[in-house]
Amino acid sequence: NRRIVLAARPQGRPVPSDFRIEEVPAPTPREGEILLQVLTLSLDPYMRGRMDAAKSYAAPVEVGGVMEGGTVAKVVASRHPGFAPGEIVLSHSGWQTYALSDGTGLRKLDPAQAPVSTALGVLGMPGFTAYAGLLAIGRPKPGETVVVAAASGPVGSAVGQIARIKGARAVGIVGGADKLAFVRDELGFDAVVDHRAPDLPGQLHGACPEGIDIYFENVGGAVWDAVFPLLNTFARIPVCGLIAQYSEAGPFPGPDRLPLMMRQVLTKSFTLRGFIQREFADQRPAFYRDMAGWIADGRVRYREDVVDGLEAAPQAFIGMLEGRNFGKLLVRVSAG
Ligand code: NDP
Repeated sequence: NRRIVLAARPQGRPVPSDFRIEEVPAPTPREGEILLQVLTLSLDPYMRGRMDAAKSYAAPVEVGGVMEGGTVAKVVASRHPGFAPGEIVLSHSGWQTYALSDGTGLRKLDPAQAPVSTALGVLGMPGFTAYAGLLAIGRPKPGETVVVAAASGPVGSAVGQIARIKGARAVGIVGGADKLAFVRDELGFDAVVDHRAPDLPGQLHGACPEGIDIYFENVGGAVWDAVFPLLNTFARIPVCGLIAQYSEAGPFPGPDRLPLMMRQVLTKSFTLRGFIQREFADQRPAFYRDMAGWIADGRVRYREDVVDGLEAAPQAFIGMLEGRNFGKLLVRVSAG
């Protein structure tokens, strides 16, 4: 059994030496347990938060502890009446090749219904985050303009495509020409701008001639600064993520924008609402039904970025925080 543990808490951006790979004996299941072989590990931005000691909405990973993460795994041995060897499950087994489970929180996956990796992306937590945040908080209406950054990733790509299904105009923000072409041509967003362009505020203005009604906030930083002046009265802002600042401890550069922001929140009646996707757990059945239908109809497309081997996970994770992934980032841990 190989596993990747947190070797040190990062100072700013994570570096490879913050992780350590370990070889340990494979565990054996006791009565009521199953042994899982991890096939695919999901790498997600929230893992950056788990590497810090600071208290957040979830407990941190301990130094020396196995890095946390969602996984698709195969049951290889079972002493649990509800699971049989060969079954494929969605689990939270972390960055390791094998794990024990007592069955709590597992969801059985049917490979005949959808590629099982989609349970970590478009048909899983990131897709659900987009669905719940956009529909429950953003509430798009036909003709409105919806802006989302990290638009080629699993959350942003679903936000824009669902917005279009609801009759809204989708404007994506991405880093780089390949992602821009993909989001515009493959995903069908109405407009896309590159956040590394020298004139981001001007380009975004050009892409949103009628202002912004919903800003689905994934990144913060310079993107938020460009979006803010374009927000319309009654704009809704589901605050989903702030990836541009996950490795920053502050103080943040530039003048204090808070008084100006609060004045605009008041005078333009903005709705600014942070959320963690699991708050909307009651909407998961509707999500599975709607999203599976949209994928089948070709109205929602998705892209995966798969790296090979558990040992590749730290570099791939570090790269994602800097935008080097292109699509839902997955690690193929075992061929199964
Ligand atoms: P992605 O696969 O899209 O990867 C992150 C992307 O963020 C990068 O590829 C990069 O894309 C972009 N990015 C990184 N730094 C910056 C920056 N400084 N400015 C602009 N863009 C940047 O991630 P996900 O789709 O999995 O997650 C998107 C967001 O949703 C994250 O903030 C995440 O934390 C949040 N999230 C929140 C949840 C919740 O419950 N609230 C649940 C799941 C995710 P590019 O190259 O295009 O810039």
